[in-house]
Amino acid sequence: MALVELRDVVKRYELGGETLTVLKGVDFTIEAGEFVAVMGPSGSGKSTMLNMIGLLDEPSEGTVLLRGEDVTTLSDRERTKARQGAIGFIFQDFYLIPSLTATENVELPTLFGGAGNKKGREKAIELLTDFGLGDRLDHLPKELSGGQQQRVAIARSLVNEPQVLLADEPTGNLDQKTGKEILDRLREICDSGVGIIAVTHDPNVAAYADRRVNIVDGVIDGDDALAREDHDA
Ligand code: ADP
Ligand code: MG
Repeated sequence: MALVELRDVVKRYELGGETLTVLKGVDFTIEAGEFVAVMGPSGSGKSTMLNMIGLLDEPSEGTVLLRGEDVTTLSDRERTKARQGAIGFIFQDFYLIPSLTATENVELPTLFGGAGNKKGREKAIELLTDFGLGDRLDHLPKELSGGQQQRVAIARSLVNEPQVLLADEPTGNLDQKTGKEILDRLREICDSGVGIIAVTHDPNVAAYADRRVNIVDGVIDGDDALAREDHDA
């Protein structure tokens, strides 16, 4: 069963009396352990599609299924709960809280959801250590490089053990080498069974992704399996 499925999803925005149709009937699925790269011109609807998959926003028409369950009929509260249990997010601008340390930033999502305080902290430290930040636990975001901040953000996205990770241009603010390191991390996470959908402009995406989905003007124009190169060597 697909982790997430979009069925004929339409998204419209009303702006100053005009209707803007941003997604025009999108069908999409992602399975466990699959890494999907989403590409397309600026303004084509990539972030909007990610927001639909991530249950951050509701479609105007169509259906979103999370592990086969229709989540478009859930209340806001139920949808938030479903999201917190299943989906992690990573953004271009990291979105770390400036006044919190690396550990506190990663621990934060556990304070709303399930895990008790102590367990959340332990998990945060474990993830940060895994990501090579064991000596940066008490640093504030401004005391970290861009690549380090994004690793903190990835750790935060994983702390509630999501099945799907959504990354909106995760390497957009990083140099090429650091961007590659981040994509390598995401590939590892994916290989552990998490489904990943990443909006990226990286032309080397075939080295990381299993599939490339191209969006043009709110419509999927190409959804292709990639022959993945092995860059681990
Ligand atoms: P992409 O991520 O591919 O650059 P987006 O999904 O962010 O594109 O946006 C697609 C289109 O939808 C753009 O024209 C954008 O201006 C419009 N749009 C996005 N969010 C909103 C919103 N909340 N209200 C009105 N228009 C929006
Ligand atoms: Mg975008």
